[in-house]
Amino acid sequence: FFAGIGGASREGILVKGSNYLETLAQTRYVVFDKTGTMTQGVFEVSGVHHNEMEEARLLEYAALAESASSHPISKSLQKAYGKAIDRSRVTDIEEISGNGVTAKVDGIPVAAGNAKLMERLGIPYKECHHVGTVVHMAVNGAYAGHILISDLLKPNAKEAITSLKHAGIEKTVMLTGDSKKVADQVAKELGIGEVYSELLPADKVEQLIQNKPEKEKLAFVGDGINDAPVLSRADIGIAMGAMGSDAAIEAADVVLMDDDIRKIASIVRISRKTLGIVKQNIVFALAVKAIVLVLGAFGVANMWEAVFADVGVSVIAILNSMRALKTE
Ligand code: ADP
Ligand code: MG
Repeated sequence: FFAGIGGASREGILVKGSNYLETLAQTRYVVFDKTGTMTQGVFEVSGVHHNEMEEARLLEYAALAESASSHPISKSLQKAYGKAIDRSRVTDIEEISGNGVTAKVDGIPVAAGNAKLMERLGIPYKECHHVGTVVHMAVNGAYAGHILISDLLKPNAKEAITSLKHAGIEKTVMLTGDSKKVADQVAKELGIGEVYSELLPADKVEQLIQNKPEKEKLAFVGDGINDAPVLSRADIGIAMGAMGSDAAIEAADVVLMDDDIRKIASIVRISRKTLGIVKQNIVFALAVKAIVLVLGAFGVANMWEAVFADVGVSVIAILNSMRALKTE
């Protein structure tokens, strides 16, 4: 197990304990978060629709209201705004996980988020007919239009899914708080079998965990921006180390240091190889000891054979374990 963890860390995969390698070897389902995990989490503004005010002003309200959030959407809106943000203009910031944010900008209440947020605030909104993530805006209690943003898939996401299937993972699932339209499009492009959308962070894996057989393990892969609880709830939580939050790295059992999701297939392979070596060693050690024990009982084995059965076997088992360091 030490060698397996060492081999994995050389690949840039941090495994927090040998028990996780064991669980990983039994993993049958891999569940992915969308934003920041399958996608880059770097949104570009692709349109502003139904706006009641100038585009630039709406964007300014959005960027200011989002100024305290670390969500990829808010970071992207701040970047699209492009100017320095004067935080002193913003007060009463409240982030509602899986919904959006509300704040006061220059004393005027501003809300930026998805349809759920607008429903929550009782503000009628206009649906968007384009495919993309929609940030609805409400300014001073009235609907002020929406900002359409789009995210790019990670270049290696498709390959990651294919290699997981090759590694023998039965089922891949994608979960997201984003709209069904976006979710379905991403899942189709990547070849993910199952997709659930418009979820709140807290509900993300609950259903999946309850419906699976006890012995089949489930891994959840997320960036942890608001799904750190899910990371700790899954049998194995895998977090993005580079762009993920500190909370995610803390809550996860496995951390991918460079966010390369192809490494999930590598760690599954490493865990199976490690477990294979563990089993070989156990069988080998017990078998040699049993043989020498029987020979000893009949007076055939001498002292040196007994020494070999003890120390020799340990050394050979350790040498065999070193193979787990090599991950090719
Ligand atoms: P995912 O499941 O794809 O990682 P999240 O659960 O983080 O997405 O968010 C779900 C949805 O909630 C987003 O698609 C967005 O519509 C809305 N949302 C969450 N946080 C914010 C925010 N800071 N600003 C605007 N919208 C947000
Ligand atoms: Mg997320």
